[in-house]
Amino acid sequence: MLMDRDKLQLSKEEMKAYGYSIVDAVVEHFETQDKKLPLASATREEMDSLFLEEAPEQSSDPQEVLDFVIEKVMKKSAIVSHPKFYSFVPGPSNYISAMSDTLATGFNVFSGGWAQSPPAAELEIVTISWLLKIFGLPVKKGGGIFTSGGSMANLTAIVTARRVMCGENFANAVIYLSDQAHSSNIKALRIIGFTREQIRLIPTDSEFKFSTIKLKSAISRDRLEGYNPFCVIATAGTTNTGTVDPLEAISKICKEEKLWFHIDGAYGGAAILAKNGKQLLKGVSKADSLTVDPHKWFFQPYEMGCLLIRNHKYLKSTFVEKPEYLRDIEGNESEINFYDHGVQLTRRFRALKFYMSLKTFGLKAFRNAITYNIVIAEKTEKLLRKSKKWEVVSPATLAIINFRYNPIGENFSEKELDNLNQKISGKVTASGEAQLVTTILNKQVVLRMCLINPRTKFEDVKATLSLCEGFANELLASKGKS
Ligand SMILES: *Cc1c(COP(=O)(O)O)cnc(C)c1O
Repeated sequence: MLMDRDKLQLSKEEMKAYGYSIVDAVVEHFETQDKKLPLASATREEMDSLFLEEAPEQSSDPQEVLDFVIEKVMKKSAIVSHPKFYSFVPGPSNYISAMSDTLATGFNVFSGGWAQSPPAAELEIVTISWLLKIFGLPVKKGGGIFTSGGSMANLTAIVTARRVMCGENFANAVIYLSDQAHSSNIKALRIIGFTREQIRLIPTDSEFKFSTIKLKSAISRDRLEGYNPFCVIATAGTTNTGTVDPLEAISKICKEEKLWFHIDGAYGGAAILAKNGKQLLKGVSKADSLTVDPHKWFFQPYEMGCLLIRNHKYLKSTFVEKPEYLRDIEGNESEINFYDHGVQLTRRFRALKFYMSLKTFGLKAFRNAITYNIVIAEKTEKLLRKSKKWEVVSPATLAIINFRYNPIGENFSEKELDNLNQKISGKVTASGEAQLVTTILNKQVVLRMCLINPRTKFEDVKATLSLCEGFANELLASKGKS
């Protein structure tokens, strides 16, 4: 007979003690995270010296392993939910969803087929229908699927668009996206075997928006040359600047040209919940498919992306594939097997955290948080514009703002400014006080703040800007140029 440990089991008492220790650690993290430093850094050598060993043949005390992991792994990772984590896209998360994930994992719910968990499939159907309604997509005919993230949602959308528009003959198919579109779209196109010649990167205009004039002429040219245009990808909230492409105009072009209209709203989609975001996202309801990313601005922990689709039948007609061992669980049409609607067969129960956090906090809390995020970015823009030291390079849009240190009257060259701002960001990073990195806009090195954490206070932003100014003074003094 196998011992408990050989069945990978703990006693009831051990399980409880272990679980409570984890809850204690997570709660302590939630309670103290705002006061910690957000950044983590270590070399490969340092990490190797801590963790590198042969796979252990013998068992260890569970609590000892847990304590080691809490101290050396969890507390040594960047805190993407920290109020001063401004870079990339922060992950503010929330406790209800974190615990819901634990619940889903604890019961190991299989969220692939209806038969394995009718409530899991139902909650995915219900929460997807909430999202369809929020984005103005048809709730009855529409559908969608939760994915690991926005990248997988974009991949799922592009595969679907190609299947519906081109069938199996896509040698001449071409797709259009702007030069500000997210890299995951290009990655997806590479994964599905598209060559560079099939991808049209259309330059954006001076406001970083998809140029519809250039789009139209590219489509005409391609048709003349015998290509088969099939899809346009617009972005609703670019990751760089928060810019929303002219969705209504692009939708019109797609209608006229009979093209699939995919909108990548992975970053900005959630802003539809805020009054000040809804206006900007006008036209989002025209999408044939729409990516949103609940693990970004819907405050869910990783991993959770979502693809919404105007006609749910297209997902099934793209992805259904029936191996013999799944014959017995096909069931009723309306009882969706989500493995038929996307890439994964075995799927974790992602819908649960979305469902529980929305039920618990209510949509209103999400609306308030997102509205607050947009407003704090606008306040930051005002503050920067009032100062003689800062230049706003891209205005606060969907809680993202880009700016650079460029004091009036100093007449630095572009190269000096690039250097200076790069170094300011480097010093902030080295201080560990905030995560504030640069991006490139109009060929300029700029600082970028993404302010989607509802626990970020305006004081936090001001403190970070003062820190930057202090570093700028140091840098300039050391060059004798202050
Ligand atoms: C973040 C992002 C993605 C990729 O989403 P992941 O969840 O990181 O896979 C795609 N598009 C846009 C616009 C994004 O901001």
